[in-house]
Amino acid sequence: MKNVVLNNGIEMPILGFGVYQIQDHDECKRCVLDAIDVGYRAIDTAASYQNEEAVGDAIQESGIEREDLFVTSKLWIEDVGFEATQKAVETSLNKLQTDYLDLYLIHQPFGDVHGSWRAMEELYKDGKLKAIGVSNFHPDRVMDLIVFNDVVPAVNQIETHPFYQRHDDQQFLKENGIQHESWAPFAEGKNNTFSNELLVSIGEKYGKSSAQVVLRWLIQRKVVVIPKTVKKNRMKENFNVFDFELSDEDMESIRSLDTGESQFFSHRDPEIIKWFASRLEEHE
Ligand code: NAP
Repeated sequence: MKNVVLNNGIEMPILGFGVYQIQDHDECKRCVLDAIDVGYRAIDTAASYQNEEAVGDAIQESGIEREDLFVTSKLWIEDVGFEATQKAVETSLNKLQTDYLDLYLIHQPFGDVHGSWRAMEELYKDGKLKAIGVSNFHPDRVMDLIVFNDVVPAVNQIETHPFYQRHDDQQFLKENGIQHESWAPFAEGKNNTFSNELLVSIGEKYGKSSAQVVLRWLIQRKVVVIPKTVKKNRMKENFNVFDFELSDEDMESIRSLDTGESQFFSHRDPEIIKWFASRLEEHE
């Protein structure tokens, strides 16, 4: 497995396994065990996915040494703020049945993220969080966090796929020593990712599927990828991307698929921020 080195020296696999939308406990546990069996050593979960216990159970059952795994979890918006973040990390550690997380991310750029970040900086200095970062932050919000705090985020996990390529974001992150991580590398199948004419035709040259072309294209851009699938044969397919290299010409031609826009929603849309806040009020 190829690793990237984060800005604090911690190594992170460039390819991991995402468990979003695998909520059923037994199904999620089976998926993580299958992924580990296939060779994945990085697992991306989050408090909001409601499957940290299942991931923890799978890790226990796998028999893999904890130090051989890279586990990421994320802080949900209901837990932003200094004290709530301290508690949320403790809860995630308990559910995942581990003493530390390899990476902990602020899931959404909303609410008191500065309070959260200060709590995360302390937990990072205590060694409970080996690396800390953010998710869904646009460059302005990343810079706001950098200039008003001590620790520069190690990672920004953002929507990145052929239809929303984020070249400018990547340049900004690189200039600030932050690792770009893609979520939804396949855009969750939107725009017929898996049968896209260009991706399929590129894949035919290398004997690879459209999915493999997408993952390879991101890996060659030095973007960390965490594809999700519940099917073991697809886990193998998505893992099998280290035995070919896309030509410069093919890398360049994929640029033509970029729409420059999210295929889900914008984290800068005031209505979206209101919607997130209203969901919190419903829980109170
Ligand atoms: P994704 O990985 O882009 O796409 C997953 C979809 O693709 C599933 O429907 C899966 O179906 C299908 N699929 C996977 N491999 C395939 C293959 N080789 N051929 C055909 N279909 C395939 O979407 P995602 O789960 O949203 O994103 C990946 C991970 O990123 C998540 O699991 C999560 O860890 C993270 N994420 C983070 C955020 C955030 O806000 N930070 C948001 C979204 C996701 P089957 O399962 O049926 O195979």
